[in-house]
Amino acid sequence: MSKVYLVGGGPGDPDLITVKGRNVLERADVVLYDHLAPETLLALAPAHAERIYVGKKKAEHAFSQEEICALLVERARRGLTVVRLKGGDPFLFGRGGEEAEALADAGIAFEVVPGVTAPLGIAAYTGVPLTHRDHTSAVSFVTGHAVDAIDWGKVGLAETLVIYMGLTTFPAIARELMARGRSPETPAMAVRWATRPDQETVAGTLATLAAQIAERGLKPPATIVVGEVVRLREKLDWFGRLPLAGKRIVVTRAREQADTLSARLRELGAEPIELPTIEIQPPSDPAPLGQAIAKLAAYDWLIFTSANGVRHFVSALDRSAADWRALRAKICAIGPATRAAVEALHLKVDLMGAEYVAEGLLEAFRPYELKGKRVLLPRAKVARDLVPVELAKRGAEVDVVEAYQTIVPADTEARGRALFAAARKPDWVTVTSSSTARNLIAAVGKEALVGVRIASIGPVTSRTVRELGLEAAVEARVYTMEGLVEAVLGAVADGQG
Ligand code: SAH
Repeated sequence: MSKVYLVGGGPGDPDLITVKGRNVLERADVVLYDHLAPETLLALAPAHAERIYVGKKKAEHAFSQEEICALLVERARRGLTVVRLKGGDPFLFGRGGEEAEALADAGIAFEVVPGVTAPLGIAAYTGVPLTHRDHTSAVSFVTGHAVDAIDWGKVGLAETLVIYMGLTTFPAIARELMARGRSPETPAMAVRWATRPDQETVAGTLATLAAQIAERGLKPPATIVVGEVVRLREKLDWFGRLPLAGKRIVVTRAREQADTLSARLRELGAEPIELPTIEIQPPSDPAPLGQAIAKLAAYDWLIFTSANGVRHFVSALDRSAADWRALRAKICAIGPATRAAVEALHLKVDLMGAEYVAEGLLEAFRPYELKGKRVLLPRAKVARDLVPVELAKRGAEVDVVEAYQTIVPADTEARGRALFAAARKPDWVTVTSSSTARNLIAAVGKEALVGVRIASIGPVTSRTVRELGLEAAVEARVYTMEGLVEAVLGAVADGQG
Protein backbone atom coordinates (compact mmCIF):
# COMPACT_ATOMS: atom_id res chain seq x y z
CA MET A 1 0.00 0.00 0.00
CA SER A 2 1.34 3.34 -0.91
CA LYS A 3 1.62 5.92 1.77
CA VAL A 4 3.39 9.19 2.39
CA TYR A 5 5.29 9.69 5.65
CA LEU A 6 6.14 13.22 6.73
CA VAL A 7 9.17 12.50 8.84
CA GLY A 8 11.09 14.76 11.20
CA GLY A 9 14.79 14.05 10.75
CA GLY A 10 15.84 15.97 13.86
CA PRO A 11 18.14 18.97 14.12
CA GLY A 12 21.41 17.60 12.78
CA ASP A 13 22.88 14.76 14.80
CA PRO A 14 21.63 11.80 12.74
CA ASP A 15 21.20 9.72 15.90
CA LEU A 16 18.35 12.00 16.95
CA ILE A 17 15.82 10.62 14.45
CA THR A 18 13.05 8.56 16.08
CA VAL A 19 12.95 4.77 15.79
CA LYS A 20 9.76 5.07 13.78
CA GLY A 21 11.37 7.60 11.44
CA ARG A 22 14.27 5.25 10.87
CA ASN A 23 11.97 2.29 10.26
CA VAL A 24 9.96 4.06 7.56
CA LEU A 25 13.12 5.40 5.91
CA GLU A 26 14.44 1.83 5.73
CA ARG A 27 11.52 0.83 3.54
CA ALA A 28 11.10 3.98 1.45
CA ASP A 29 10.90 3.81 -2.35
CA VAL A 30 11.26 7.58 -2.63
CA VAL A 31 12.82 10.12 -0.26
CA LEU A 32 12.22 13.83 -0.76
CA TYR A 33 14.64 15.71 1.46
CA ASP A 34 15.74 19.25 1.95
CA HIS A 35 18.72 21.26 3.05
CA LEU A 36 18.16 20.93 6.81
CA ALA A 37 17.55 17.18 6.93
CA PRO A 38 20.68 15.40 8.19
CA GLU A 39 22.16 14.08 4.96
CA THR A 40 23.67 10.91 6.39
CA LEU A 41 20.14 9.69 7.11
CA LEU A 42 19.69 9.15 3.38
CA ALA A 43 21.98 6.16 3.65
CA LEU A 44 19.25 4.41 5.66
CA ALA A 45 16.96 4.24 2.63
CA PRO A 46 17.26 1.09 0.50
CA ALA A 47 19.67 1.17 -2.42
CA HIS A 48 16.81 1.22 -4.94
CA ALA A 49 15.15 4.28 -3.36
CA GLU A 50 14.88 7.41 -5.44
CA ARG A 51 16.41 10.33 -3.54
CA ILE A 52 15.16 13.75 -4.56
CA TYR A 53 16.66 16.95 -3.20
CA VAL A 54 13.88 19.49 -3.07
CA GLY A 55 16.02 22.35 -1.87
CA LYS A 56 14.93 25.01 0.53
CA LYS A 57 17.93 27.17 1.14
CA LYS A 58 16.39 30.58 1.46
CA ALA A 59 17.17 32.04 -1.95
CA GLU A 60 17.57 28.85 -3.96
CA HIS A 61 14.41 26.83 -3.85
CA ALA A 62 15.09 23.81 -6.01
CA PHE A 63 11.33 23.19 -6.04
CA SER A 64 8.42 25.43 -5.14
CA GLN A 65 6.10 24.30 -2.34
CA GLU A 66 3.41 23.49 -4.93
CA GLU A 67 5.86 21.37 -6.88
CA ILE A 68 6.85 19.46 -3.75
CA CYS A 69 3.20 18.75 -2.92
CA ALA A 70 2.54 17.67 -6.51
CA LEU A 71 5.57 15.36 -6.43
CA LEU A 72 4.38 13.73 -3.19
CA VAL A 73 0.95 13.10 -4.68
CA GLU A 74 2.33 11.84 -7.98
CA ARG A 75 4.81 9.36 -6.48
CA ALA A 76 2.19 8.07 -4.02
CA ARG A 77 -0.24 7.49 -6.89
CA ARG A 78 2.37 5.29 -8.51
CA GLY A 79 1.93 3.00 -5.51
CA LEU A 80 5.23 3.89 -3.86
CA THR A 81 6.16 4.36 -0.21
CA VAL A 82 7.21 7.98 0.02
CA VAL A 83 9.20 9.61 2.82
CA ARG A 84 9.26 13.38 3.03
CA LEU A 85 12.29 13.94 5.24
CA LYS A 86 12.55 17.30 6.94
CA GLY A 87 14.90 18.96 9.39
CA GLY A 88 13.62 19.11 12.97
CA ASP A 89 9.90 18.43 13.23
CA PRO A 90 7.54 18.58 10.22
CA PHE A 91 4.83 20.49 12.08
CA LEU A 92 6.99 23.27 13.48
CA PHE A 93 7.86 25.84 10.85
CA GLY A 94 8.40 22.98 8.44
CA ARG A 95 5.44 23.50 6.10
CA GLY A 96 4.40 19.98 6.99
CA GLY A 97 0.89 21.31 7.53
CA GLU A 98 0.59 22.39 3.90
CA GLU A 99 1.93 19.09 2.65
CA ALA A 100 -0.43 17.09 4.84
CA GLU A 101 -3.35 19.19 3.58
CA ALA A 102 -2.37 18.59 -0.04
CA LEU A 103 -2.27 14.84 0.65
CA ALA A 104 -5.62 14.93 2.45
CA ASP A 105 -7.15 16.88 -0.45
CA ALA A 106 -5.82 14.33 -2.93
CA GLY A 107 -7.17 11.46 -0.83
CA ILE A 108 -3.73 9.97 -0.21
CA ALA A 109 -2.94 8.07 2.97
CA PHE A 110 -0.26 9.69 5.09
CA GLU A 111 1.32 9.58 8.52
CA VAL A 112 3.29 12.22 10.39
CA VAL A 113 6.39 11.14 12.32
CA PRO A 114 7.54 13.81 14.76
CA GLY A 115 11.16 14.85 15.08
CA VAL A 116 13.34 16.73 17.56
CA THR A 117 12.78 20.34 16.65
CA ALA A 118 15.86 22.59 16.48
CA PRO A 119 15.25 24.41 19.81
CA LEU A 120 15.02 21.11 21.69
CA GLY A 121 18.30 20.07 20.12
CA ILE A 122 19.73 23.42 21.15
CA ALA A 123 18.40 23.11 24.68
CA ALA A 124 20.01 19.70 25.11
CA TYR A 125 23.31 20.40 23.34
CA THR A 126 24.03 23.79 24.90
CA GLY A 127 22.79 22.99 28.40
CA VAL A 128 19.91 25.48 28.36
CA PRO A 129 16.68 23.97 29.67
CA LEU A 130 13.85 25.92 28.06
CA THR A 131 11.88 25.87 31.30
CA HIS A 132 13.14 25.85 34.86
CA ARG A 133 11.19 26.12 38.09
CA ASP A 134 13.36 28.97 39.30
CA HIS A 135 13.31 31.02 36.13
CA THR A 136 10.66 30.16 33.58
CA SER A 137 7.22 28.71 33.28
CA ALA A 138 6.38 29.79 29.73
CA VAL A 139 8.10 29.30 26.36
CA SER A 140 7.18 30.81 23.01
CA PHE A 141 8.32 29.51 19.63
CA VAL A 142 8.17 32.26 17.00
CA THR A 143 9.43 32.83 13.50
CA GLY A 144 11.57 35.88 12.90
CA HIS A 145 10.79 35.68 9.21
CA ALA A 146 8.50 38.72 9.17
CA VAL A 147 8.95 40.99 12.17
CA ASP A 148 5.73 42.92 11.56
CA ALA A 149 3.61 39.77 11.48
CA ILE A 150 4.08 39.26 15.21
CA ASP A 151 2.61 41.15 18.12
CA TRP A 152 5.80 41.38 20.16
CA GLY A 153 3.91 42.91 23.03
CA LYS A 154 2.03 39.64 23.35
CA VAL A 155 4.61 36.89 22.76
CA GLY A 156 7.86 38.73 23.14
CA LEU A 157 7.60 39.10 26.86
CA ALA A 158 7.15 35.35 27.48
CA GLU A 159 9.92 34.26 29.78
CA THR A 160 11.75 32.06 27.29
CA LEU A 161 11.53 33.23 23.70
CA VAL A 162 12.76 31.03 20.87
CA ILE A 163 13.16 32.61 17.45
CA TYR A 164 13.47 30.45 14.34
CA MET A 165 14.76 32.05 11.12
CA GLY A 166 15.54 35.27 12.93
CA LEU A 167 19.20 35.88 12.22
CA THR A 168 18.79 38.84 9.87
CA THR A 169 15.77 40.32 11.60
CA PHE A 170 17.12 40.02 15.13
CA PRO A 171 18.30 43.65 15.41
CA ALA A 172 14.71 44.79 14.76
CA ILE A 173 13.24 42.14 17.07
CA ALA A 174 15.60 43.06 19.91
CA ARG A 175 14.64 46.73 19.52
CA GLU A 176 10.93 45.82 19.66
CA LEU A 177 11.41 43.72 22.79
CA MET A 178 13.43 46.37 24.63
CA ALA A 179 10.97 49.07 23.59
CA ARG A 180 8.25 46.98 25.24
CA GLY A 181 10.14 46.77 28.49
CA ARG A 182 12.21 43.61 28.25
CA SER A 183 15.50 44.24 30.07
CA PRO A 184 18.52 44.80 27.79
CA GLU A 185 20.45 42.62 30.26
CA THR A 186 18.32 39.54 29.47
CA PRO A 187 20.69 36.72 28.47
CA ALA A 188 20.40 35.70 24.82
CA MET A 189 22.19 33.37 22.45
CA ALA A 190 22.21 32.31 18.81
CA VAL A 191 23.07 28.72 17.93
CA ARG A 192 23.96 27.52 14.47
CA TRP A 193 23.86 23.89 13.32
CA ALA A 194 22.85 22.69 16.75
CA THR A 195 23.68 19.10 17.74
CA ARG A 196 26.28 18.72 15.00
CA PRO A 197 30.01 18.65 15.79
CA ASP A 198 30.33 22.07 14.10
CA GLN A 199 27.65 23.59 16.37
CA GLU A 200 28.43 27.27 16.93
CA THR A 201 27.12 29.40 19.77
CA VAL A 202 27.21 33.17 20.19
CA ALA A 203 26.04 34.28 23.60
CA GLY A 204 25.42 37.74 25.05
CA THR A 205 22.42 39.80 26.08
CA LEU A 206 19.37 41.18 24.37
CA ALA A 207 21.30 44.44 23.94
CA THR A 208 24.54 42.96 22.61
CA LEU A 209 23.62 39.83 20.67
CA ALA A 210 22.74 41.48 17.34
CA ALA A 211 26.17 43.10 17.10
CA GLN A 212 27.88 39.88 18.17
CA ILE A 213 26.06 37.92 15.45
CA ALA A 214 27.18 40.46 12.85
CA GLU A 215 30.73 40.48 14.12
CA ARG A 216 30.97 36.69 14.03
CA GLY A 217 29.34 36.62 10.60
CA LEU A 218 27.00 33.88 11.83
CA LYS A 219 24.99 32.37 8.96
CA PRO A 220 21.73 30.39 8.90
CA PRO A 221 20.52 27.97 10.03
CA ALA A 222 20.60 29.43 13.50
CA THR A 223 18.01 29.82 16.22
CA ILE A 224 17.95 32.47 18.92
CA VAL A 225 16.98 31.86 22.54
CA VAL A 226 16.23 34.79 24.84
CA GLY A 227 15.64 34.39 28.58
CA GLU A 228 17.14 33.87 32.02
CA VAL A 229 17.60 30.16 31.31
CA VAL A 230 20.45 30.98 28.90
CA ARG A 231 22.59 31.62 31.98
CA LEU A 232 22.49 27.93 32.87
CA ARG A 233 24.66 27.11 29.89
CA GLU A 234 27.79 27.97 31.80
CA LYS A 235 27.03 25.19 34.22
CA LEU A 236 25.34 22.63 31.99
CA ASP A 237 27.13 22.76 28.64
CA TRP A 238 28.24 19.10 28.54
CA PHE A 239 28.54 19.07 24.75
CA GLY A 240 30.95 21.99 24.53
CA ARG A 241 33.04 20.35 27.25
CA LEU A 242 33.55 17.03 25.49
CA PRO A 243 37.31 16.51 25.29
CA LEU A 244 37.58 16.95 21.51
CA ALA A 245 34.76 19.50 21.09
CA GLY A 246 35.15 21.58 17.96
CA LYS A 247 38.12 19.61 16.60
CA ARG A 248 38.03 18.69 12.94
CA ILE A 249 39.85 15.40 12.49
CA VAL A 250 40.55 13.70 9.17
CA VAL A 251 40.17 9.92 9.00
CA THR A 252 42.20 8.42 6.15
CA ARG A 253 41.26 4.75 6.52
CA ALA A 254 39.45 2.84 3.79
CA ARG A 255 35.78 3.78 3.60
CA GLU A 256 34.46 0.49 4.95
CA GLN A 257 36.88 0.65 7.89
CA ALA A 258 36.52 4.29 8.84
CA ASP A 259 33.33 3.83 10.85
CA THR A 260 34.68 2.75 14.22
CA LEU A 261 37.29 5.50 14.37
CA SER A 262 34.82 8.14 13.18
CA ALA A 263 32.19 7.02 15.68
CA ARG A 264 34.69 7.14 18.55
CA LEU A 265 35.84 10.64 17.56
CA ARG A 266 32.25 11.84 17.31
CA GLU A 267 31.53 10.46 20.77
CA LEU A 268 34.38 12.62 22.07
CA GLY A 269 32.89 15.72 20.47
CA ALA A 270 35.09 15.93 17.38
CA GLU A 271 33.96 16.32 13.81
CA PRO A 272 35.39 13.37 11.90
CA ILE A 273 36.02 14.05 8.22
CA GLU A 274 36.38 10.90 6.17
CA LEU A 275 38.95 11.15 3.40
CA PRO A 276 39.76 7.56 2.47
CA THR A 277 43.28 7.40 1.03
CA ILE A 278 43.17 3.69 0.39
CA GLU A 279 40.65 1.38 -1.12
CA ILE A 280 40.84 -2.37 -0.56
CA GLN A 281 40.56 -4.45 -3.70
CA PRO A 282 40.79 -8.13 -4.55
CA PRO A 283 44.33 -9.36 -5.37
CA SER A 284 45.75 -8.45 -8.78
CA ASP A 285 46.30 -12.20 -9.33
CA PRO A 286 44.12 -14.58 -7.30
CA ALA A 287 46.02 -17.71 -8.40
CA PRO A 288 48.78 -17.84 -5.74
CA LEU A 289 46.27 -17.57 -2.88
CA GLY A 290 44.12 -20.24 -4.52
CA GLN A 291 47.15 -22.54 -4.79
CA ALA A 292 48.10 -21.94 -1.17
CA ILE A 293 44.56 -22.78 -0.07
CA ALA A 294 44.63 -25.95 -2.13
CA LYS A 295 47.47 -27.21 0.07
CA LEU A 296 46.24 -25.62 3.29
CA ALA A 297 46.74 -28.84 5.28
CA ALA A 298 50.47 -28.63 4.67
CA TYR A 299 50.97 -25.43 6.69
CA ASP A 300 52.07 -25.31 10.33
CA TRP A 301 51.42 -21.61 10.81
CA LEU A 302 48.91 -19.19 9.31
CA ILE A 303 49.86 -15.56 9.94
CA PHE A 304 47.46 -12.66 9.51
CA THR A 305 48.82 -9.12 9.60
CA SER A 306 45.50 -7.29 9.05
CA ALA A 307 41.76 -7.76 9.27
CA ASN A 308 41.67 -7.26 5.50
CA GLY A 309 44.00 -10.22 5.10
CA VAL A 310 41.56 -12.33 7.14
CA ARG A 311 38.55 -11.21 5.11
CA HIS A 312 40.12 -11.82 1.73
CA PHE A 313 41.57 -15.15 2.83
CA VAL A 314 38.09 -16.25 3.85
CA SER A 315 36.53 -15.25 0.54
CA ALA A 316 39.22 -17.17 -1.32
CA LEU A 317 38.60 -20.17 0.94
CA ASP A 318 34.88 -19.92 0.22
CA ARG A 319 35.54 -19.92 -3.50
CA SER A 320 37.80 -22.97 -3.24
CA ALA A 321 36.79 -26.61 -2.84
CA ALA A 322 38.20 -26.64 0.70
CA ASP A 323 36.92 -25.28 4.02
CA TRP A 324 38.32 -24.72 7.50
CA ARG A 325 38.56 -28.46 8.13
CA ALA A 326 41.70 -28.44 5.99
CA LEU A 327 43.46 -26.17 8.45
CA ARG A 328 45.96 -27.78 10.81
CA ALA A 329 48.06 -24.69 11.34
CA LYS A 330 48.28 -22.54 14.40
CA ILE A 331 46.88 -19.07 13.81
CA CYS A 332 48.83 -15.93 14.49
CA ALA A 333 47.49 -12.33 14.51
CA ILE A 334 49.49 -9.10 14.51
CA GLY A 335 47.17 -7.20 16.85
CA PRO A 336 43.73 -6.96 18.45
CA ALA A 337 41.77 -5.85 15.35
CA THR A 338 43.18 -8.76 13.36
CA ARG A 339 42.47 -11.10 16.25
CA ALA A 340 38.87 -9.83 16.38
CA ALA A 341 38.48 -10.60 12.66
CA VAL A 342 39.73 -14.17 13.28
CA GLU A 343 37.52 -14.62 16.32
CA ALA A 344 34.50 -13.40 14.39
CA LEU A 345 34.94 -16.65 12.43
CA HIS A 346 34.77 -18.64 15.68
CA LEU A 347 38.45 -19.51 15.38
CA LYS A 348 41.00 -18.94 18.12
CA VAL A 349 44.27 -17.09 17.83
CA ASP A 350 47.28 -19.06 19.08
CA LEU A 351 49.87 -16.34 19.00
CA MET A 352 49.97 -12.54 19.13
CA GLY A 353 52.85 -10.21 19.96
CA ALA A 354 52.93 -7.78 22.88
CA GLU A 355 53.56 -4.93 20.44
CA TYR A 356 51.29 -4.79 17.44
CA VAL A 357 53.94 -4.47 14.73
CA ALA A 358 56.06 -6.95 12.77
CA GLU A 359 58.84 -6.76 15.39
CA GLY A 360 56.39 -7.71 18.14
CA LEU A 361 55.18 -10.68 16.13
CA LEU A 362 58.73 -11.93 15.56
CA GLU A 363 59.43 -11.60 19.26
CA ALA A 364 56.40 -13.77 20.01
CA PHE A 365 57.74 -16.47 17.69
CA ARG A 366 61.01 -16.64 19.60
CA PRO A 367 60.21 -19.72 21.78
CA TYR A 368 59.05 -21.78 18.80
CA GLU A 369 61.17 -24.14 16.73
CA LEU A 370 60.68 -23.07 13.11
CA LYS A 371 63.15 -25.27 11.28
CA GLY A 372 61.34 -26.98 8.42
CA LYS A 373 57.99 -25.47 9.45
CA ARG A 374 55.71 -24.25 6.70
CA VAL A 375 54.24 -20.80 7.13
CA LEU A 376 51.48 -19.12 5.10
CA LEU A 377 51.31 -15.34 5.14
CA PRO A 378 48.32 -13.98 3.17
CA ARG A 379 48.59 -10.20 3.04
CA ALA A 380 48.59 -7.00 0.99
CA LYS A 381 50.43 -6.86 -2.31
CA VAL A 382 52.79 -4.22 -0.99
CA ALA A 383 53.96 -4.81 2.59
CA ARG A 384 57.05 -4.95 4.78
CA ASP A 385 59.32 -7.95 4.26
CA LEU A 386 60.55 -8.18 7.83
CA VAL A 387 58.35 -11.10 8.95
CA PRO A 388 59.01 -13.48 6.02
CA VAL A 389 62.72 -12.65 5.91
CA GLU A 390 63.28 -13.19 9.63
CA LEU A 391 61.19 -16.37 9.81
CA ALA A 392 63.09 -17.78 6.81
CA LYS A 393 66.37 -17.02 8.59
CA ARG A 394 65.18 -19.28 11.38
CA GLY A 395 64.62 -22.12 8.93
CA ALA A 396 60.93 -21.72 8.17
CA GLU A 397 59.59 -22.19 4.67
CA VAL A 398 57.43 -19.09 4.16
CA ASP A 399 54.81 -18.60 1.42
CA VAL A 400 53.90 -14.94 1.09
CA VAL A 401 50.77 -14.64 -1.03
CA GLU A 402 48.83 -11.61 -2.13
CA ALA A 403 45.36 -11.71 -0.52
CA TYR A 404 44.34 -8.17 -1.45
CA GLN A 405 45.77 -4.95 -2.80
CA THR A 406 45.21 -1.34 -1.90
CA ILE A 407 44.74 1.45 -4.40
CA VAL A 408 44.20 5.20 -4.03
CA PRO A 409 40.50 6.06 -4.51
CA ALA A 410 39.83 8.16 -7.61
CA ASP A 411 38.50 11.20 -5.74
CA THR A 412 41.08 11.39 -2.93
CA GLU A 413 43.24 14.00 -4.60
CA ALA A 414 40.46 16.43 -5.53
CA ARG A 415 38.61 16.02 -2.22
CA GLY A 416 41.83 16.20 -0.21
CA ARG A 417 43.09 19.33 -1.92
CA ALA A 418 39.78 21.11 -1.36
CA LEU A 419 39.69 20.02 2.28
CA PHE A 420 43.16 21.30 3.16
CA ALA A 421 42.75 24.50 1.14
CA ALA A 422 39.55 25.41 3.04
CA ALA A 423 39.51 28.56 5.16
CA ARG A 424 39.08 26.43 8.24
CA LYS A 425 41.68 23.71 7.90
CA PRO A 426 41.25 20.46 9.79
CA ASP A 427 43.03 20.47 13.17
CA TRP A 428 44.28 16.89 12.93
CA VAL A 429 44.84 14.17 10.40
CA THR A 430 45.09 10.56 11.55
CA VAL A 431 47.30 8.08 9.69
CA THR A 432 46.73 4.44 10.52
CA SER A 433 49.32 2.77 8.28
CA SER A 434 52.32 3.64 6.14
CA SER A 435 50.18 3.40 3.02
CA THR A 436 47.52 5.82 4.27
CA ALA A 437 50.32 8.27 5.16
CA ARG A 438 52.07 7.86 1.83
CA ASN A 439 48.87 8.18 -0.20
CA LEU A 440 47.67 11.19 1.77
CA ILE A 441 50.88 13.14 1.29
CA ALA A 442 51.10 12.16 -2.37
CA ALA A 443 47.50 13.25 -2.95
CA VAL A 444 47.41 16.64 -1.23
CA GLY A 445 51.11 17.61 -1.18
CA LYS A 446 53.10 18.22 1.95
CA GLU A 447 52.66 22.02 1.91
CA ALA A 448 48.90 21.58 2.31
CA LEU A 449 49.53 19.79 5.61
CA VAL A 450 51.48 22.62 7.21
CA GLY A 451 49.65 23.62 10.38
CA VAL A 452 47.70 20.37 10.53
CA ARG A 453 48.79 18.01 13.31
CA ILE A 454 49.49 14.45 12.26
CA ALA A 455 48.55 11.61 14.61
CA SER A 456 50.32 8.36 13.79
CA ILE A 457 49.35 4.85 14.83
CA GLY A 458 52.89 3.70 15.54
CA PRO A 459 56.62 3.95 14.90
CA VAL A 460 56.58 2.40 11.42
CA THR A 461 53.95 4.83 10.19
CA SER A 462 55.75 7.74 11.89
CA ARG A 463 58.95 6.77 10.11
CA THR A 464 57.14 6.84 6.76
CA VAL A 465 55.77 10.30 7.59
CA ARG A 466 59.28 11.47 8.44
CA GLU A 467 60.74 10.04 5.24
CA LEU A 468 58.18 12.08 3.33
CA GLY A 469 59.38 15.27 4.97
CA LEU A 470 56.76 15.76 7.70
CA GLU A 471 56.65 14.98 11.39
CA ALA A 472 53.95 13.22 13.36
CA ALA A 473 52.82 15.43 16.27
CA VAL A 474 51.79 12.41 18.32
CA GLU A 475 52.26 8.67 18.08
CA ALA A 476 50.06 6.02 19.67
CA ARG A 477 51.65 4.22 22.59
CA VAL A 478 49.51 1.15 21.95
CA TYR A 479 49.33 0.60 18.18
CA THR A 480 45.55 0.44 17.80
CA MET A 481 42.77 2.86 16.86
CA GLU A 482 42.03 3.40 20.55
CA GLY A 483 45.73 4.05 21.15
CA LEU A 484 45.65 6.65 18.39
CA VAL A 485 42.61 8.35 19.92
CA GLU A 486 44.33 8.32 23.34
CA ALA A 487 47.36 10.07 21.84
CA VAL A 488 45.21 12.84 20.36
CA LEU A 489 43.26 13.20 23.62
CA GLY A 490 46.53 13.53 25.53
CA ALA A 491 47.84 16.26 23.25
CA VAL A 492 44.59 18.21 23.31
CA ALA A 493 44.41 17.97 27.11
CA ASP A 494 47.95 19.38 27.23
CA GLY A 495 46.82 22.30 25.11
CA GLN A 496 48.68 21.08 22.04
CA GLY A 497 46.21 20.97 19.18
N1 SAH B 1 11.06 22.15 11.08
C1 SAH B 1 12.31 22.71 11.58
C2 SAH B 1 12.39 24.20 11.38
C3 SAH B 1 12.58 24.62 9.96
S1 SAH B 1 12.59 26.35 9.73
C4 SAH B 1 12.46 22.33 13.06
O1 SAH B 1 11.54 21.82 13.65
O2 SAH B 1 13.54 22.56 13.60
C5 SAH B 1 14.30 26.70 9.56
C6 SAH B 1 14.88 27.25 10.82
O3 SAH B 1 15.02 26.21 11.77
C7 SAH B 1 16.26 27.81 10.70
O4 SAH B 1 16.24 29.12 10.19
C8 SAH B 1 16.72 27.77 12.13
O5 SAH B 1 16.16 28.83 12.87
C9 SAH B 1 16.09 26.50 12.61
N2 SAH B 1 17.02 25.37 12.57
C10 SAH B 1 16.88 24.22 11.89
N3 SAH B 1 17.91 23.38 12.13
C11 SAH B 1 18.72 24.02 12.99
C12 SAH B 1 19.93 23.69 13.64
N4 SAH B 1 20.52 22.51 13.44
N5 SAH B 1 20.49 24.58 14.47
C13 SAH B 1 19.91 25.76 14.70
N6 SAH B 1 18.77 26.13 14.11
C14 SAH B 1 18.16 25.28 13.28
